[in-house]
Amino acid sequence: MSELSIRQFPCLSDNYGFLIHDPDSGETATIDTPDPDRILAEAEAAGWTITQIWNTHHHFDHAGGNAAIKAATGARIVAPSYESARIPGIDLAVSEGDSVWLGKIEAKVVFTPGHTSGHIVYSLPGEHVAFVGDTMFALGCGRLFEGTPQQMWTSLSRLAELPDDTVIYCAHEYTQANARFALSIDPDNRDLQAYAASVDAKRARGEATVPTTIGTEKAANPFLRAADPAIRARLGLADAANADVFAEIRRRKDTF
Ligand code: ZN
Ligand code: FE
Repeated sequence: MSELSIRQFPCLSDNYGFLIHDPDSGETATIDTPDPDRILAEAEAAGWTITQIWNTHHHFDHAGGNAAIKAATGARIVAPSYESARIPGIDLAVSEGDSVWLGKIEAKVVFTPGHTSGHIVYSLPGEHVAFVGDTMFALGCGRLFEGTPQQMWTSLSRLAELPDDTVIYCAHEYTQANARFALSIDPDNRDLQAYAASVDAKRARGEATVPTTIGTEKAANPFLRAADPAIRARLGLADAANADVFAEIRRRKDTF
């Protein structure tokens, strides 16, 4: 393990900003650019200079601050090749399987289409950390703006294969609303009940519910649990394909 430092802070109405810093090389990356002024202020408060921008997808609350941060710092913009037409000023376009480096700390690029057609996740296997953008949320997943349920199910299934102790940094504080929905799908799940109660307690104290872990999500997040017999029975989809069960859960969430 290196000594990677991670600084998390709220941006806009419900986004999180993340700065990651490698003390050996002095490099600092911002994961997405939801609020450039806030991100630059956080970097200054930490005594870090942003050298890289790592984008997960093209949405404005993720890439909208790229130009301002690049203008202020000269940071290199790393972004998904699949969305290069929609993210201006990319310096390094990356694709599935590529490695991105913060000093000697490696991030693997995982292609996770569904929320957008070219969304990527940055997985840091040596750190047991992943920055998942709007693909997975605590007790939820991103809306399917540009992808199919099958694509998103495949994307989430790949994240579910990460080690259980992998710390998942998702880009929005949506957990309390997600918990209410999850309980409508999987009401008898004790892990979910306990998780939902802890989320309510954290929010009552004004605390973040991000990050989470893969192990926690596998036990309670209905969007990862399409194979679960109790959920299938409740939805009347005992014999359906996993992607079809996932599609039904996502459809219900869209109108919950
Ligand atoms: Zn988004
Ligand atoms: Fe977003």
